[in-house]
Amino acid sequence: MWADLHMHSTYSDGVLTPPELLAQIVKAGITVFSLTDHDTLKGLGEMESLARKNGLVFIPGVELSTQMEGHQVHVLGYGIRQDDAVLASRLTQIRDARRIRLEQIREKLRELGMNVKVPVPPEGCRSIGRPHVAGALVAQGFVDSIEEAFERYIGEGKPAYVPQPKLTPGEALELIHQAGGLAVMAHPEEIKSRELASRLLRTLLFDGLEVFHPSIRKNSLDEYWLALARELHLKITGGSDFHGLGDRFPGRLEEWRVKRESVQDFLTVFGF
Ligand code: AMP
Ligand code: ZN
Ligand code: FE
Ligand code: FE
Repeated sequence: MWADLHMHSTYSDGVLTPPELLAQIVKAGITVFSLTDHDTLKGLGEMESLARKNGLVFIPGVELSTQMEGHQVHVLGYGIRQDDAVLASRLTQIRDARRIRLEQIREKLRELGMNVKVPVPPEGCRSIGRPHVAGALVAQGFVDSIEEAFERYIGEGKPAYVPQPKLTPGEALELIHQAGGLAVMAHPEEIKSRELASRLLRTLLFDGLEVFHPSIRKNSLDEYWLALARELHLKITGGSDFHGLGDRFPGRLEEWRVKRESVQDFLTVFGF
C-alpha cells in the first residue's frame, strides 16, 4: 500500500493535468494521495472528484513558499477548508504580486537585449515564477539550460534578479490553521540549515514534518528527521514532490513512493 502526500499539477508548476496525474497515481499503485500545488487551491475540487471515482483516499493540500533568515522554508497545509475566504484572498494576493514581478523581470531582460515571452497561464491557475522565466529563456534560445538561465540572469544577485516577497513560516502556519488545516514542514533538508529547521520546528506550532522526500535519500538523514519528529511529537508525512519533470524530482511516480504505514498516524487525524 503506497501513499504520496506531495504532488504538483498544471495548476502550479507540474506538467500533468489532474486527470493525467491521476492516471500515473493509479499506475504506480498509490492509494492515498494529496495534491499540493503552490499557492493555489484551484485543482483540489477536480482532483477530489477524480479520486472519489477511482476509490482512492484524497487529502486536499497546498504548498506555501515562505522565507526566513535568507532560507526558503516550504510549508504544506493539509485538510484546509477549500472555501476559506481568508486563505483564498491571501493566495490571490500572492499570485497577483508574482505577475507584477514577472513583468519586472521581463523588463530587466529587455534591457539586456532579450525580449522574452513567458506564457502566462489562466488567472488563478498557478503562481508564475522564475522556473517559468527560465523555461522561456531556454525555449527561445537565449540559454541552453534552466541552470544557465539562473546562473547568468535570474539567480539571486544576477542582472535580471527580482526578489519575491514571501510569507514568513509563522504567517503560513496561521493561514493554514485558521482554515482548519494541519501545517507540515516540507522537505526540511532543502532548507539547507538544520539549525534553522529544527529551531522553527521547536518554536512554531507545526503539526507535522515531511520526513520522507527525495531530498532525504540516505538512511542517516531519515534517522535525523525521524528522531526529531518523534521528539517533538510531530506527525510524520512523506511524498515524492512529483512535478512530472525528469530532472530535480522523480521523473516517474514509481521511482519514489512512501509506504502507507509510514504516514499512518498522520492519516488517522483525517479518519483514514
Ligand atoms: P521564485 O519563487 O519564482 O523565486 O522561484 C523559485 C524556484 O526557482 C525554486 O523553488 C526552484 O524551483 C527554482 N530555482 C531556484 N534556483 C534554481 C536553480 N539554480 N536552478 C534551477 N531552479 C532553480
Ligand atoms: Zn514546485
Ligand atoms: Fe517545495
Ligand atoms: Fe513541492
